[in-house]
Amino acid sequence: MSNVEVAAKYIKEGKLVAFPTETVYGLGANALNPQAVARIFEVKERPSFDPLIVHIADLKELDQLTAHHDERVFIIAKHFWPGPLTMVLPKSDIVPDIVTSGLPTVGIRMPNNEVALDLISKSGCPIAAPSANKFGSISPTLASHVKEKLAKVDYILDGGKTSVGIESTIIKFTKYGFQILRNGIITKEELEKYLPHDDKTPIEEASAPGMMKSHYSPQKKLLLADNSNILNIDKSKAGLISFTGNLESAFSKVIRVSEKQDLKDYAVNMFEAMHNLEDDDSIDLIIAEAVAEEGIGVAIMDRLRKAEYNWRNVKV
Ligand code: AMP
Ligand code: MG
Repeated sequence: MSNVEVAAKYIKEGKLVAFPTETVYGLGANALNPQAVARIFEVKERPSFDPLIVHIADLKELDQLTAHHDERVFIIAKHFWPGPLTMVLPKSDIVPDIVTSGLPTVGIRMPNNEVALDLISKSGCPIAAPSANKFGSISPTLASHVKEKLAKVDYILDGGKTSVGIESTIIKFTKYGFQILRNGIITKEELEKYLPHDDKTPIEEASAPGMMKSHYSPQKKLLLADNSNILNIDKSKAGLISFTGNLESAFSKVIRVSEKQDLKDYAVNMFEAMHNLEDDDSIDLIIAEAVAEEGIGVAIMDRLRKAEYNWRNVKV
């Protein structure tokens, strides 16, 4: 049996499989088996109010999982699936409440990763999968991150490093167009080429659960820096996640996330750099270089601000 066949067997048996997607590694279970899904929450220590995204490999699965959907779903799917985009849609009765945290909607995505698609097809069911890490901690972009930081997974499928590196963009539809519930590398501007953005309707808090102020956070203090505050930082035991190269002097360790100052590289390498510095005993403080909040920079700053949130007022 191939590794994917073994993993699919585990999914069919109601067990948990960590697997690569293009965004980050997911912790997957049969989305239609509530007991299996319950174990995801248990292993991740994830609060039950935070709903899971369901991963599919074939557009036909939309009919089974949703109560109804209109042609806008197919317009978006045609341009962005498989890919790092989740659509929140009215759920059908076969989707267990535990998956959606009791919401009447379900988040659905078709990942752009051959191993993930093969696993979903061979399992013969949609796969519910959040990131394969403890709730609130740094997301996994390598199989080794899962192995080292998440015990109790039944099987880990190693598909190498994830190619996007940050979680999917999440959208929902309203009468007027689409709204973004979470930013990712598919930006508002790209989506607007196909559908209008609704900036009239306020996003109700209840429709975007799980959007915490603190998330993606290392076990060590992390702060954001730019040219304006870099001088005040003690760099003797600090590691820098560097983007432009302009802030690097005096840091005891520097991880440059991009050679050509490409924001996509920042997304791809950001969580791996955080893991590296979190695991390095010579480092007490992690500094991440801030970027302009435009295009993909919106999603990058969203992750970095959440990683920083609980640390801002903590002394080390
Ligand atoms: P992840 O953190 O990648 O597992 O994605 C899960 C996030 O997707 C949750 O924290 C929610 O913010 C969002 N999500 C999933 N399902 C829904 C839904 N039905 N309605 C609104 N947001 C959802
Ligand atoms: Mg996560």
